[in-house]
Amino acid sequence: MLYIQDASFVDWRTLRIRRGHLKVAPGPKGDVRFVSRIPQGASVLDCSGRLVTKSFVIAHHHLYSALALGMPLPPRAPRNFAQMLKLVWWNLDRKLDAEMVRACALAGGIEAAKCGATFLIDHHSSPNATRGSLDIIASALDDIGLSHLLCLELSDRDGERRREEGLAETNRYLSGRQGLVGLHASFTVSDGLLKRAVALAETHATGIHAHVAEALSDENDCIRRRGIRILERFSAAGALRSPKTILAHGLHLDKKERAIFRRSPAWLVQNQESNQNNGVGDFDSAGLGGRLMLGTDGLNADMLASTRAAYLAGRARGGMSPLDAYRRLRKAHEYLAVNGFTGDGENNLVILDYAPPTPVTPANLAAHFLYGLGRCHVESVISAGRLIVRRRRMVGVDEDKIREFTSKQAEKLWRRL
Ligand SMILES: [Zn+2]
Repeated sequence: MLYIQDASFVDWRTLRIRRGHLKVAPGPKGDVRFVSRIPQGASVLDCSGRLVTKSFVIAHHHLYSALALGMPLPPRAPRNFAQMLKLVWWNLDRKLDAEMVRACALAGGIEAAKCGATFLIDHHSSPNATRGSLDIIASALDDIGLSHLLCLELSDRDGERRREEGLAETNRYLSGRQGLVGLHASFTVSDGLLKRAVALAETHATGIHAHVAEALSDENDCIRRRGIRILERFSAAGALRSPKTILAHGLHLDKKERAIFRRSPAWLVQNQESNQNNGVGDFDSAGLGGRLMLGTDGLNADMLASTRAAYLAGRARGGMSPLDAYRRLRKAHEYLAVNGFTGDGENNLVILDYAPPTPVTPANLAAHFLYGLGRCHVESVISAGRLIVRRRRMVGVDEDKIREFTSKQAEKLWRRL
């Protein structure tokens, strides 16, 4: 049992602040309670002057890109999104072997933990190291102490054998653990694969996790080849039937598709920083309803930065308040709760060493989230009631040793690019 001494505890739902000692129960169903005193000999984390609140969820992530930080540039600069995939990401993911997949998960997982995230919804791709890849990632994240909802990116882009391996790996993984059925995006997924992915998701009572209309070319491909738009296609195939289904991006959905999405129980993830980095368009929440979450799309693991980016883009478009942006950050907790996924209990906490020069109140907390707080304030992190980051150092894993390993794997990967 872990005790937090003298916390300024922020209720993530109401933003009410209460000072006192907290008792944090361990385990997937552990809760957090105020106590009047801390028993002698108990395990205590002193949090005087710190804000303590619920940790973050990354609703769309790509751990497989963790070793890309600082990698050599492609031989020629991509001129559009299709070239970006071909020259950069598909070149990288094809070079990943099992050791590198583990290095990615460890490097990305540690970064996420140090940014205050305790739950990752990941979309994985390593076409030449598919078998067992989801277990490798799961075990790395388990070692770090992070909860997860994984999937493997199914696609026809690397031919029949790779597609079949992906389906088999997904089926094998979902037979033992919670996860989703991943699809790359409409333009690399055949009708046959789409149908089989939906059937596989139904077999395991789960949803689809797919990129949708990230670039205009994805929509144009669907219209050209099938005469319909992506969400018409996905909806007709049953891919939007599950409330567990996650669509990433949705930048180029038209009015009709927005209505299809709104009528479905599916969720959409905005990845603002990534969209700007790729220059693929602007996210517009108009007509999409309330099932919107935020992700990083593998660009980093910093949900505070992602929220700020979504907020500033929303400001530029007009009408977004700090509270709107804060609520979008927190929407992922609802997605996980209503769908019965485990690992996002109240005993997941981030301890923020944040001492602004102005008062912090329930009324202005959202503004502090948007204008004041950053990853530099994340001091300690508790996942499922267990300390995983203590005063900016990892607790359960040897981060120096891991850094040596991931750095070696990155060099190996970069040589192959
Ligand atoms: Zn993505």
